[in-house]
Amino acid sequence: MADTVYDLLIIGAGPGGYVGAIRAAQLGMKVGVIEKRAKLGGTCLNIGCIPSKALLQSSEKFRDSQHAFAKHGIKAAVELDLPTMMKRKDGVVDQLTKGVAFLFRKHKIDHIAGHGTIKARGLVEVDGKPIKAKNIVIATGSESTPLPGVAVDEKRIVSSTGAIALEAVPKTMIVIGAGYIGLEMGSVWSRLGAKVTVVEFLDRIVPGMDGEVAKQFQRILEKQGLVFRLGSKVTAAKTGNDGVSLTLEPSKGGAVEEMKADIVLVAIGRRPFVDKLGLDAVGVARDKRGFIAVDAHYQTNVPGIYAIGDAIPGPMLAHKAEEEGVALAEMLAGQAGHVNYETVPGIVYTWPEVATVGKTEEQLKEAGIAYKAGKFPFTANSRAICNDEREGFVKILADAKTDRILGAHIIGAEAGDMIHAVVNVMEFGGSAEDLARSFHAHPTYNEAVREAALAVAGRARQI
Ligand SMILES: Cc1cc2nc3c(=O)[nH]c(=O)nc-3n(C[C@H](O)[C@H](O)[C@H](O)COP(=O)(O)OP(=O)(O)OC[C@H]3O[C@@H](n4cnc5c(N)ncnc54)[C@H](O)[C@@H]3O)c2cc1C
Repeated sequence: MADTVYDLLIIGAGPGGYVGAIRAAQLGMKVGVIEKRAKLGGTCLNIGCIPSKALLQSSEKFRDSQHAFAKHGIKAAVELDLPTMMKRKDGVVDQLTKGVAFLFRKHKIDHIAGHGTIKARGLVEVDGKPIKAKNIVIATGSESTPLPGVAVDEKRIVSSTGAIALEAVPKTMIVIGAGYIGLEMGSVWSRLGAKVTVVEFLDRIVPGMDGEVAKQFQRILEKQGLVFRLGSKVTAAKTGNDGVSLTLEPSKGGAVEEMKADIVLVAIGRRPFVDKLGLDAVGVARDKRGFIAVDAHYQTNVPGIYAIGDAIPGPMLAHKAEEEGVALAEMLAGQAGHVNYETVPGIVYTWPEVATVGKTEEQLKEAGIAYKAGKFPFTANSRAICNDEREGFVKILADAKTDRILGAHIIGAEAGDMIHAVVNVMEFGGSAEDLARSFHAHPTYNEAVREAALAVAGRARQI
């Protein structure tokens, strides 16, 4: 490894870095990946997507056993075994991170353990050792954004990292931030018995998602027991023996108030992670929000230094990072790598799930684009009735003139899987009619997607 000059040296083994590394190795490059964390897989596999989804699945089963089984004629007396639930989650993480290590071996990718600092073009130092490369890729990801006045100790005041590893179910929990991470983790602990209050600065939840979906989503979560304090900002926190005391005030100003909880989760967003990366020394430029600025080929202002994933602007999602890693590897190999940012799906893995792709109604109105909306509720979908999962709807937005699909928004059981039918049609520039005329097996939740596509032209059949 000492004398190797890598074709590609990637800093960070998250979804952007490790998937980009595999694609580059497939294309014949000599690839090294520097990772400071003990296990590969980045935020996503270690403390993000994967452990949170494992806990969402376990906690949903627990909740079903209390609230859904009886309707199906199943009587069960269940008891929570949190250590086993956490152990299962850790096992899932272990299996998947080991899977990345296996893929590195398979593709002859060098895993370089340690903290990488860029020293010059073509030179990275890992814990004092110089490593040379033709091209360097920054894939260092993100960290949770701190909230002034609310210091995270990962015990009483936690980030998502602490929230996936609590040792006991808190009686009360305050989640600061009604984005997808806050709502997913809030759901987990609410299902396991915590009284959860979500405090949000804006006057709506899941900012950026379709407004109609957001309203129904909030109503459903409220029915499940979550309490929302919208239009409120947290300005200070005090930790004592009996929990955390938060100071709150209306976002627009007004009377100050105190709120107490056993655990506070700070989930106000994430910011790029570039600590001790050497960016200033080599002159890599960042934008006003701290994201690394790149051109259409993911190159920074310094030739030969590239950046992808959460560290650059765009949706902070694992699949977006992966596609950027792949596109960059292909471009460096002389191919036409490309990421279609119009079709990046976003999913909230609560129950029901919320899934979105493309433009919202609000964005289309603001852009002055004439569109038609087709909607179909799950109350009229036969599979949803069979499964007793009737909440939610599918909404398809299509160009009023061309019928081309511009966006889709789904709230309902398995929305996160369903959305891909629309993503595929959008990728090919397809229309609502294309989607409506495709086969959809009966009885499936996906028939609601077809019905919503039919509804764009006012010809839904099942309602
Ligand atoms: C709780 C939670 C749930 C999430 N759920 C989802 C989800 O369901 N779906 C989804 O798409 N996204 C989800 N995300 C977001 C997703 O995890 C990120 O978008 C994704 O991990 C970004 O990938 P990345 O490769 O850019 O960076 P990361 O995954 O953050 O990986 C970066 C890696 O770089 C390493 N690193 C940083 N600096 C250095 C250095 N100088 N030297 C060596 N190594 C370094 C870090 O240790 C890290 O392992 C979730 C995030 C969180 C926190």
